[in-house]
Amino acid sequence: MNQRADIVKAIHFLHQKGWAPATSSNYSFRESGQSNFYVSQSGMDKGDFGEAHFLEVDADGNPVNDSRKPSAETLLHCAVYQLFPAVHCVLHTHTVLNTVVSQVFQEKGCLELQDYEILKGFSGIKTHEVSIKIPIFANTQDINALSIELVDFVRKNDPELRAFLIAGHGMYTWGATVADAKRHVEVVEFLLECEYLKLKLKA
Ligand SMILES: [Zn+2]
Repeated sequence: MNQRADIVKAIHFLHQKGWAPATSSNYSFRESGQSNFYVSQSGMDKGDFGEAHFLEVDADGNPVNDSRKPSAETLLHCAVYQLFPAVHCVLHTHTVLNTVVSQVFQEKGCLELQDYEILKGFSGIKTHEVSIKIPIFANTQDINALSIELVDFVRKNDPELRAFLIAGHGMYTWGATVADAKRHVEVVEFLLECEYLKLKLKA
């Protein structure tokens, strides 16, 4: 298993899908048994992203022997790794659908997904007969405050959280492996499209 090669492949897939436009989005992986992790360099066009464009950061998001700037949202990756020791990959997308749907559902505070066969694409889910809540946080440029809000939310409400949305901004999800995290991105983006289409057909 080569996490670095796998995640670069996943990033190119996400970019080709149009889920990482205009240098947006960020990604990370953590090697087994480590607290440091590797996060994408800030400001890169994800179509040109390669294995050299990751930098090592410590568990608090500080670069280790590297003068490059890590992604501005590195603290959210730190929070996910801190909350979920089994997670080894975090992926963040900026898509038209997650941007719009998160704004439309923001007042409800979450997006509730149930009775969809594709929910089985989430690790550990074996049936469509479940209800998954994806919380929606307000967007902010204060990523430190948002990461504290996320940690609080998980501890109080959902220790098995699988993904979250930031209103008008994007989506985060993660997994035990790069393949799991990539599959979770596809599940959430598929479901956002379903929810969007349902609203449209009802209108
Ligand atoms: Zn973002």
